[in-house]
Amino acid sequence: MAKRLDADVCSLYLCGSDLDRLTLRATVGLRRDAVGNVVLRLDEGLVGLAAERMEPVVIDRASEHPRYKYFPETGEERFESFMAAPLIVRNVPIGVLAVQTVNVRRFEQGDVETLLTCAQLLMPVVLNAQLIDAAGLPLLEEQRVAVDEELAQHGIPITGVKPARAGGGIELAGIGTARGIAIGPVSKLGQMDLERMEYTPSSSVEQEERDLMQAVHDARRELDDTGEEMGEQFGPDFAAVFNTHIQILEDKGFLAKLKEAVRAERDGLAALRGVLAVYRKQFERIADPYFRERAWDVEDVGRRVMARLLGVRHDTAPLPEGAVVVVDNILPGYFARLDLEKVGAIISEHGGPTSHGAIFARTLEIPAISGIAGVLDACRPGELAIVDGDEGKVYFSPDEHLVGEYERAQQRAAVAIQHLDAMRARPAETRDGRRIRLSANVGLVSDLRLVEQHGADGIGLFRTELPVLAHRGFPDEYEQEQLYERVARAVAPRSVTIRTLDLGGDKDIAEFGVENEENPQLGCRSIRLSLEEEGVFRAQLRAILRASVGGNVRLMLPMVSSLPELRQAKRVIEVARGELDDAGHAYDRDIPIGLMIEVPSAALTADALARECDFFSIGTNDLTQYTLAVDRTNEHVAHLYTPLHPAVLALIDASGRAARRAGIPVSLCGEMAGNPLAVPILVGLGIEELSGTPSGVPVIKEIVHALDAGEAEAAARVARDAGTAEEVHAIGGRVLREAGLLDHADIGGWLRPIVEKAERGVA
Ligand code: PEP
Ligand code: MG
Repeated sequence: MAKRLDADVCSLYLCGSDLDRLTLRATVGLRRDAVGNVVLRLDEGLVGLAAERMEPVVIDRASEHPRYKYFPETGEERFESFMAAPLIVRNVPIGVLAVQTVNVRRFEQGDVETLLTCAQLLMPVVLNAQLIDAAGLPLLEEQRVAVDEELAQHGIPITGVKPARAGGGIELAGIGTARGIAIGPVSKLGQMDLERMEYTPSSSVEQEERDLMQAVHDARRELDDTGEEMGEQFGPDFAAVFNTHIQILEDKGFLAKLKEAVRAERDGLAALRGVLAVYRKQFERIADPYFRERAWDVEDVGRRVMARLLGVRHDTAPLPEGAVVVVDNILPGYFARLDLEKVGAIISEHGGPTSHGAIFARTLEIPAISGIAGVLDACRPGELAIVDGDEGKVYFSPDEHLVGEYERAQQRAAVAIQHLDAMRARPAETRDGRRIRLSANVGLVSDLRLVEQHGADGIGLFRTELPVLAHRGFPDEYEQEQLYERVARAVAPRSVTIRTLDLGGDKDIAEFGVENEENPQLGCRSIRLSLEEEGVFRAQLRAILRASVGGNVRLMLPMVSSLPELRQAKRVIEVARGELDDAGHAYDRDIPIGLMIEVPSAALTADALARECDFFSIGTNDLTQYTLAVDRTNEHVAHLYTPLHPAVLALIDASGRAARRAGIPVSLCGEMAGNPLAVPILVGLGIEELSGTPSGVPVIKEIVHALDAGEAEAAARVARDAGTAEEVHAIGGRVLREAGLLDHADIGGWLRPIVEKAERGVA
């Protein structure tokens, strides 16, 4: 940092467990012996100020600042200008990264951004180290009480085994962490085997230490490979978990504890088990469930090392088809090790919904239940089990009646899904031949495979703020570019519409925006925020442009509300293009630049906007809230929030007509695109592309196939002139019924006609 910013000092201060003091932990430029000895409260000094305010502090003449505090140990009287960025986790400052210079100097916005990015990159490293260090810190009594309350709140059963059911089966309950039903034979994963294996330590303690360190080294290499493999298969979100595991194995504290234990025990395996047991105990006592569950990451890593030390690769016994895998905890490592094709469900004794394993199961659509106390003892390998991921229930050796019920439910869902999936490769076309593009709204790389799975025509909306919200800190330009490029490559030759950051409003992050706005939905959000934070905006634009080299990227601006705003954004795009030209970077020079119609003013001036952009996408989620004056996040007015209101239809119609007059394409990417009742009306209003949740694509395709574009147009005209949303609902229902898709107006009757149609063999 010091080198990059041409500063004389760069120091890292970290909070201890009490969170109200900062200690100098590392420095370049201050006196070495000050490390560990300079301690300040959060309300002291300029470093404290950055932590206290939870925002960067930049001061040209630090010694003149009222908060300046001099610490003789640091020898810092020689330094003048000061800049600091806090490290923040879940709204709590955990440290401060500070740079100082001898000469008075003005730090630029770009310098602040660099420092902030660096602070954010440091955060997970610090966090991991602190979690590992946490082993050894006794918990306060109130934290212990909080843990108990937390467990009770999550309904984690203390005694899991209920009385035997009639028919001899057993019913157990846990936390449903991934939805779906599975029926299959129990397969216990041999967690215990490693524990029971014979191990004879070498007679020399030095050899024992070498063997243990070699096992750590091998496990690390294995993690590298696994992470890469998982990343390739399922995306970087998956790979990131393995990087966390690698960090544990590289942690100096962890390695020192292992070495210390092996010298004391003279037995590598016993040393490893002992260290793991201490970690496990300490983590389990942390109040925050997210951090508590990180104990299982340490456990997973430990078992990996143990397997290497014992000279066994992991238990790879073949699984029976549709296996209900029963484990102690759903560890991320299992997903790399198991034949996932054969896994029907995963259930576990421990763990909660935020564990990485549970997240993996959800992403892979494998039904999963965790936190079922006593499950490993309660079941026998090979016996039949029913897993109900929706209800968080598992039944072992259930009676025939229950099996029959679940089989029928499973069959119904399978028939409908199969029928719909069979149409994957077929384009969505109305009976009279009008082609409608059905694309997917996506926000995370792990969603990409759903685009393929459900046969979407590319990505109609890539919400770039989601990776930012999910990321531990703001991704830098290079990370963004990598991400966008990956997305563009994954869907090529189909296109992806990348929307620039839509932060603010209900999508708030600490780094940006205006705090405490009275009306954040009407405030500095979306494109307004991007235009205020031009440096961040330009960096994102450069990243999108660079990812466009393959020619399948469209760039979309959210929430544009006037022509001057569009022009201003386009000027910034021009600057970003110029910057890439100067640096000699390639990009698609014809990249289409479009905007979202989400505000009535945009819909009502759509002709003017259409003349100066390449496409429209109508964002009905916001268009509905702004047209009807109904906050989309406020449950008290949720009954008034209806995109099928004739007023919203009028604005969709106006936007569509303007687009056609200007000869530019128009799509719709609000949730409305996936509402079966809305589809006939939207097709009738001339919308050429509907973009929604990937899993909704097959159902919408089914509707489009059943429609006649001419009839849909007639229905849309009536709906457009209707007086109420209820009338519009009725019109949508009528069209669907006439098309043979709905046997009553209630949308709950939706699955049945599809199942019946599939059973009649109608594709
Ligand atoms: C919309 O407003 O319709 C939209 C698609 O954007 P978001 O839901 O991300 O605000
Ligand atoms: Mg929106």
